[in-house]
Amino acid sequence: MGDTLLVDWKGKSVKIKGMASVQEELKKLLELQEIDSKLDEINKLLDDLPAQLKSLEKEDFSLQQEMEEFKKTSTHMKVERRQKETELKAIEEQIKNLQSKLFDVKTNKEYQALQNEIQNLKAKTSSLEDEILVHMEKDEQLKEKEKSLLQRIEEHKKIRMAKQKEIENKINQLKGEHALTQQQRNEYVTRIDRLLIDLYMRVKKSKKDGVAICRISEDSNGCICGGCYVYIPGYLREKVKKKTEIVQCENCGRILVE
Ligand SMILES: [Zn+2]
Repeated sequence: MGDTLLVDWKGKSVKIKGMASVQEELKKLLELQEIDSKLDEINKLLDDLPAQLKSLEKEDFSLQQEMEEFKKTSTHMKVERRQKETELKAIEEQIKNLQSKLFDVKTNKEYQALQNEIQNLKAKTSSLEDEILVHMEKDEQLKEKEKSLLQRIEEHKKIRMAKQKEIENKINQLKGEHALTQQQRNEYVTRIDRLLIDLYMRVKKSKKDGVAICRISEDSNGCICGGCYVYIPGYLREKVKKKTEIVQCENCGRILVE
């Protein structure tokens, strides 16, 4: 192989001197791409993990909100029950007063009127007592609910803390891996021609999958680009096979390797 290399650079063919061989350069470029895809993968994970932490915190918050709502209902119920108990006591006092007056009345009519009043008040106390009973039952239910809610909060807290720790460890581990891989890349890049790296980076940036260099494959109909799966013309396939210049897919622009 010769020591010069043709690269299509900004619309012009540029000769790169001093390259060992196109084959070797492309091999290095493929290896660089492997390093880059590892970096991309690490970066993606590092982007996703903090979101997982946030969603754990969100769940925590919604449980706390549930507890706040519960406390409000519980307090409201207690106030209501106390009001009814006070009301009941007042009516019972009133009944006692009226009963003591029964001995002082002079006429049968007055006696009957007092008795009626007492009966009415007694009916009221009985319905109040029923209401208080219902409240007591609800109170029991609320206590049970509070217990299970507290349990859920406690369990969730435990799970969240464990997951949090796990995620934080993973983030630290990934950061370490990232630093190492980046260092590896920095060293590797110096071994490849600058213009070739520039071309590679230009193509990589324009691709969603980050793949800038790919292999060709052949079937009975011809030769296919491994990046966009479009058939490439015969003369391009010949160029790829000759390995004397850098060839890009005419459809997607990816650098082609046999
Ligand atoms: Zn292609």
